[in-house]
Amino acid sequence: MKLDTRAIRYLTGEDWRVLTAVEMGSKNHEVVPTTLISQISGLRGASGVNRSISNLAKVGLIAKVKNAKYDGYRLTYGGLDYLALNAFIKRKSVYSIGNQVGVGKESDIYVVADESGKQIILKIHRLGRISFRTVKANRDYLRNRNSASWMYMSRLAAMKEFAFMKILKDNGFPVPTPLDQARHCVLMELIDSYPLRQVTSIADPPKLYADLMALILRFASQGLIHGDFNEFNILVNEETQQPVVIDFPQMVSIDHTNAKEYFDRDVQCIKTFFERKFKFISDDEGPTWDDVKRTGKLDIEVEASGFSKKQAKELDKYLQQVTQLDEREGGEAGDISPDEDDEDEIEQSSDVEEDDDEEEAEGEKYGGEHSNLSKDNP
Ligand code: ADP
Ligand code: MG
Repeated sequence: MKLDTRAIRYLTGEDWRVLTAVEMGSKNHEVVPTTLISQISGLRGASGVNRSISNLAKVGLIAKVKNAKYDGYRLTYGGLDYLALNAFIKRKSVYSIGNQVGVGKESDIYVVADESGKQIILKIHRLGRISFRTVKANRDYLRNRNSASWMYMSRLAAMKEFAFMKILKDNGFPVPTPLDQARHCVLMELIDSYPLRQVTSIADPPKLYADLMALILRFASQGLIHGDFNEFNILVNEETQQPVVIDFPQMVSIDHTNAKEYFDRDVQCIKTFFERKFKFISDDEGPTWDDVKRTGKLDIEVEASGFSKKQAKELDKYLQQVTQLDEREGGEAGDISPDEDDEDEIEQSSDVEEDDDEEEAEGEKYGGEHSNLSKDNP
């Protein structure tokens, strides 16, 4: 889903209040009734509220939903994106937005810049865009458990990623420096390296292999398993050949019920990749689960960081369900957001522009024009 920030500078204070009201209302309403939006926004006079509603719907930040009982609105991913960006802008964490550099399975990655012009990475978590697909029963099942589940789960993923990145960075692990987090978004240091999968020249594959296996063991010695340790989530600098690990929403404790399975899978991913790509098979068969010696407890310490054990459980449960659904549906699911999925129920505003995702992902990696987000700096 494309992040279109063109309208952000033109929203009025009232628009922001109404947008926030729709977000708050969605916590316990699948479709937020117009009267409730008006009430929460605290704005006097229906005309102002209606004007804002219509402004927001026009640019796709909220969508009108016709319900059997009443008409109302729901927040779209675009609306949530604007709320998160606005928080970053207010905190002076973000000043302008540049190119999209990645479309992950459950995230979109952009290069953005802070006020000093320094380029950083914005990771927007988009849980639910795969899992809500296809079989309606699955979709309803997942969704009905919490009407705002895609929003909530994406936020949990961002909180978790930020918390883990912080504790890992503080403990000397090679991960990007986490900079800020708001709603479903994380800001982090831009690593000037490509994913291992894309790196054309690896000078010494056996050394990199050994470094990566050592890293898996080092995570485990601190009580952690990455859980998705593969050639897409390891960035390797072409010059120094140093690896940096990214992507943490699925990280688990070595005390997790499936810890051994996840650990073995991480090890196997690296083995398979090195064998396929470099025809390299190590004489050393390890590491194995028996090699794991706990010397630290970052898995416990991270709970004190604002991402609680309860939240970890909620996200874990959701991610497991999603994996099961994906497997049952035969793997690769299409990139369909809950927004698009819902089209039958939504009255589309006629002047919402159609997105063309492909176009956006092209172009220079970190270069390209940035668009300013601030009102007073057009
Ligand atoms: P997902 O969870 O969707 O897989 P990732 O965090 O793995 O998202 O990021 C997807 C892609 O975006 C990566 O493979 C990488 O190319 C790019 N990327 C992510 N974070 C950074 C970063 N900090 N610096 C540079 N590139 C990054
Ligand atoms: Mg990834």
